[in-house]
Amino acid sequence: MNKCPNCNTTYREILQTGFVGCEECYKHIDELAKAVKELYDGKKYCGKRAGGANGI
Ligand SMILES: [Zn+2]
Repeated sequence: MNKCPNCNTTYREILQTGFVGCEECYKHIDELAKAVKELYDGKKYCGKRAGGANGI
C-alpha cells in the first residue's frame, strides 16, 4: 500500500512534508515501513539480511 487508510496520507506527501500523518502510516505505507526498517537495521546490523524469521 502506498497510502495510509487511517489518515489518507500518501508516501509522496510524507516525502514532501517530512511528516507522517499518524502512527499507522508506518504500518500501512510499504515504502515508509521499508525505510524505517532499513534505518533501524542499519544501526543494528552491518550488511544485508534476507529477512528470514528463522535465521537463514
Ligand atoms: Zn496515517
